[in-house]
Amino acid sequence: MTLQPLELKATLLEPVAIRANRQSTRSEGLAWIPGSTLLGALAHAYLRWAGAPDDDGFQILFQDENHCRWGSLRTGIYQPPATAASCKRFPGISGATTSKSGATPPADSEAHGIHDLLLAELLALRKPEDAPTAILCRCGEPLKPYRSPLLTTSSKKGGLQFAAPAQPVRRTRLHVGILRTTSTAAKQILFSEETLDCWIKTGAEPGIDAYEPTILSGTIELSDHARKTLKSLLDLLDSRVDVGASRSRGLGSLELKMGQPLPTPSTTQLDRFSNQAAHHLSGTDSIFTLTFPEGALFLDPLLRFTNDPAAAIPWLPPMPREDQKPETVDGITPLYGNAEFTRLRGWHGAHGLPRSDDLALEPGAIFAYEVHQDQWPNVQERLLQLAATGAGLRRNEGLGRVRISDPFHLKFAYQPTAQTPGSHPPNAPTNHLKTKRSTKNTRKKKKKKRKR
Ligand SMILES: [Zn+2]
Repeated sequence: MTLQPLELKATLLEPVAIRANRQSTRSEGLAWIPGSTLLGALAHAYLRWAGAPDDDGFQILFQDENHCRWGSLRTGIYQPPATAASCKRFPGISGATTSKSGATPPADSEAHGIHDLLLAELLALRKPEDAPTAILCRCGEPLKPYRSPLLTTSSKKGGLQFAAPAQPVRRTRLHVGILRTTSTAAKQILFSEETLDCWIKTGAEPGIDAYEPTILSGTIELSDHARKTLKSLLDLLDSRVDVGASRSRGLGSLELKMGQPLPTPSTTQLDRFSNQAAHHLSGTDSIFTLTFPEGALFLDPLLRFTNDPAAAIPWLPPMPREDQKPETVDGITPLYGNAEFTRLRGWHGAHGLPRSDDLALEPGAIFAYEVHQDQWPNVQERLLQLAATGAGLRRNEGLGRVRISDPFHLKFAYQPTAQTPGSHPPNAPTNHLKTKRSTKNTRKKKKKKRKR
């Protein structure tokens, strides 16, 4: 059954507290709502107001990943791939702004733009002599990975336009512990909680404070039946859903709405990406990439966590280890992988117990493969199928969702600038490690200068 991806929009009516871990006294907060939290909140509301766990509706919305796959809600709907990078000093899309403090961005912002390093990395692997000698911003500063979600709009030509969202405000709330015997404040017990504020300050005019509500967005994949069930549930709830911690203290209420259907990949898009990437690398074989915008959870045959998608997608060749040569299986050769682990923690509402921790891929994990021309039509079919089903475990929480041959890599492909001061000597290998090392060195130098 094919599921239709839809945009899901949440307007915060109250501050929201999503704990990053299970510690209750001093807990860091997340600036986004994980798919599992959203699923749990809606399941709770369903059981309270709409029905029982055995209902058809409950099974379809919360148990059956072939009918409904939830997703996380973030400030932007588009999670860039792990190869996205931006200036270390002035990060963000040029023309738009991101401010680390969450304060109003200045109108004359000098963001130096976003670059995607995938094609540069592939070129460095294949033809080190043609690869750019140093990967630097146009201002000469190193580039840093760029992880913040982006907003997207469709352009007239059908492509995507990207913009940086306003950064939400995060606040820390403190409250004292209450002694059960006397119902008064307990000595030396203080709780702190990080929340996401429901208002964002906008810089309408200098000197005048203007605010707009914090809006988080994400993707949900639904069958026709599940869409109707969710719509009637949201109507019943008047679109109000309570999520996160401290709901009894006036936190966590949001208005949830289903939005526009989102586009699904086509063979034309896969062909376009493959041709342009192959042209860039002066190769003849087809190329595709797999990006996991929500992260993914893979287990190998011995049930160990792995960051290789081949564990969940049987027709893919395994990613080689550092000392191995890539292996070609059915005309497919792995080229590149960039995936780090993140720990998934959670609380099982129904059991009232902590969930066991899982090691999943970080959102934005990306893998690139090369395909022999004879096999390309075959592989295209499998890729479209993969985009429809996703891969790995916990897919009903949004994990394992796949974006294939992301046009982001072409739109923001890194263009080396003219020789910039501080660049590496010619013919030096350029890869992520090199970029990171140079970042560290500059940091050390800066520290030394300060000491003097
Ligand atoms: Zn720069």
